[in-house]
Amino acid sequence: MANTEHSFEEIVNHLVTSGFVYPGSDIYGGLANSWDYGPLGTLLKNHVKDLWLRHFVREIEYNVQIDPAIIMNPKVWEATGHVANFHDPLVDCKYCHSRYRADDLVKSQCPDLDVDGMDQKALNETVQSGKIVCPKCGKNQFTDIRQFQMMFKTFIGVTEEKSSTVYLRPETAQGIFVNFKNVLRTTRRKLPVGICDIGKAFRNEITPGNFTFRTREFEQMEIEFFFRPGEDEKWFAFYKENCKAFVERLGLRDDHVRYRDHEKEELAFYSSATTDIEYLFPTIGWGELMGIACRGDYDLGRHMARSGQDLTYLDPETHEKYLPHVVEPSFGLDRLMLALLMDSYDVETLNEGKDSRVVMHLAPELAPYTVAVMPLSNHLIEPAAELFKKIHPYFDAIFDTTGSIGKRYRREDAIGTPLCVTFDFDSQNDGMVTVRERDSMKQERVAITDLVEYIRHFLDSRRA
Ligand code: ATP
Repeated sequence: MANTEHSFEEIVNHLVTSGFVYPGSDIYGGLANSWDYGPLGTLLKNHVKDLWLRHFVREIEYNVQIDPAIIMNPKVWEATGHVANFHDPLVDCKYCHSRYRADDLVKSQCPDLDVDGMDQKALNETVQSGKIVCPKCGKNQFTDIRQFQMMFKTFIGVTEEKSSTVYLRPETAQGIFVNFKNVLRTTRRKLPVGICDIGKAFRNEITPGNFTFRTREFEQMEIEFFFRPGEDEKWFAFYKENCKAFVERLGLRDDHVRYRDHEKEELAFYSSATTDIEYLFPTIGWGELMGIACRGDYDLGRHMARSGQDLTYLDPETHEKYLPHVVEPSFGLDRLMLALLMDSYDVETLNEGKDSRVVMHLAPELAPYTVAVMPLSNHLIEPAAELFKKIHPYFDAIFDTTGSIGKRYRREDAIGTPLCVTFDFDSQNDGMVTVRERDSMKQERVAITDLVEYIRHFLDSRRA
């Protein structure tokens, strides 16, 4: 199993043609870098979310899940500094008018420069130095840097006035911070407490691209874990271990995953430690899947100051009053899915090179369909459909009647279905069906009466 010999484009082409992902607004010619998940992508997404919920909410006793609103009081984004600071430095080529992020442009052409350590003046001087060229037309004349607000603005109510301006949230985290007190009060929990959320976030990225890697609308799975100040190292290590265990459960290959601790200079001023988990994507290289950050009391402190509400915690045992510190593990769901899809794609040669198959070696519990039920012949559609009805309530299953059995096996391999169940002429007499496993392609006869238990046992035996 290896994917580094397959290019990003080849795999994206497979994902689009097989129906994992569709171009957004397709019948209107699409919308730049917007993508819709088809039935396969949606099932995969549900399964990744289920695993995240199991791993981080159900199996960690301190954690609960909430579902806050996307549109929040704009004062939230003033308090967090997003209104003032959530900007990208933008430049336009003076000749062909192509638009770039100045930092990306300089990074790609001067890999030795410490671009993240530059202020806007230094970055602008570098862009204007004549050494940086437009990747599209090759000219070296750019406009001065302008700061581009990345939050999407919209309006509530009937007038488009400043007073009714609201923003689509650029991260899910703030819906958690503003509910910290509500959650503590209504769940009657004591610290430490983790509040988890899965939901959409929106950023008006200047340079979206690389398929679903960077889009303007994406989903995050975030946790804010609140604890007593001074326990930062302990809980940071706890979440590093847990995030690592989660990535292992997903089945990503070890040599395609790395854990990158941020250098001191790279840390946000309020963060004492940050680690990114990165994945080695084919063609585009290492890309961030998630970050775990020690954020101290920065967010609660800002909200307390701006809202005028007391967000401190009174420890019922020690009677100390303090503002809790936070560790934040923040996964991007779409990037995680892209990594999984890239990681699991393979083209295998069979029959000594005479044949080949595309196969997605997704972990069985994540694969869109767990099982495909197939009648061997059209004469067997009815009893096979009866069998499908028995399986369907328990597993994500698909009923596939078209084409030869060999073709159907290939089709299911290509979307990662781990088990195919074939109902043949003997099945009517002996009550047995043939079960074929995706990776080994081994087949065995299983009694119909045992089939649900057999599939359950198979899934359990393949869980990490
Ligand atoms: P990047 O440096 O790639 O822009 P970031 O450091 O700004 O990412 P965070 O704000 O830490 O990202 O968000 C947490 C996670 O959300 C990221 O690790 C990534 O998986 C995901 N994410 C962020 N921006 C996007 C985007 N535009 N499209 C898809 N996923 C995103």
